[in-house]
Amino acid sequence: MNRFSLALVIGLFVAGCMSSRAPDAASTSTVTDVQRTEARRTDAGIEISLADETGHTREARQQLRRLLSSYDLDPWIVTQEVQIETGVDPHSHPVLTLNTNHLRDDETQLSIFLHEQAHWFVGRSVRPFAPKAGEEKQAVIKDLEALYPDPPPAADYGTFVHLIVGWLEVDGMAELVGEERAREVKRGLVQQYTEEPLSNTDKSYRWYNERVLEDTREIGAILAEHGLIITPDKGLVVQVNEE
Ligand SMILES: [Zn+2]
Repeated sequence: MNRFSLALVIGLFVAGCMSSRAPDAASTSTVTDVQRTEARRTDAGIEISLADETGHTREARQQLRRLLSSYDLDPWIVTQEVQIETGVDPHSHPVLTLNTNHLRDDETQLSIFLHEQAHWFVGRSVRPFAPKAGEEKQAVIKDLEALYPDPPPAADYGTFVHLIVGWLEVDGMAELVGEERAREVKRGLVQQYTEEPLSNTDKSYRWYNERVLEDTREIGAILAEHGLIITPDKGLVVQVNEE
């Protein structure tokens, strides 16, 4: 997660490859194919590199492998390249990077992983940076700005992008660990990542996460309208009003 919006440092929003498994693969394949399918299922094709060879990065790699084999994360895997580095803030670009701060808390690390993957998903259709002079703002951002005409002064374009990313993170967690737990994990993260007195970065980080937790339905309805929900029928299910 990246409260600094640095996650948005970008180069390429290459369309990632969501792996798709034929549901009946096992019934029609040879044993070898089945084994291969199983292998894919347990690591989702993720390649994990370590930025530094400490015990902690190796432990974090084990943790991520455990998460990949415990949960079916396929819908959320957009980039398959993951790096683990000690002492950095987690970020999405140019390479999705996790740190070693949550070795004892799999669900928190999972939430962060989904957040950074969500940046890659959102980046396929929503610009990561504010439009330049003369460029029009994208419709989903305009709709979110209309929902929040009076954001805190610290909020910027990246904060609005984070309303989408944060929502998708909680949505994914709701599907994987249940909505109540998803919300607890999110609240825990906000506490861990903000310190009184709040800096401007902390203020916008706290604001977008609180909006996601309190206005889940309203934000979700906007994302649904713009086709930005990764798993529309699962997790936080949003009712879109027919007009
Ligand atoms: Zn982020």
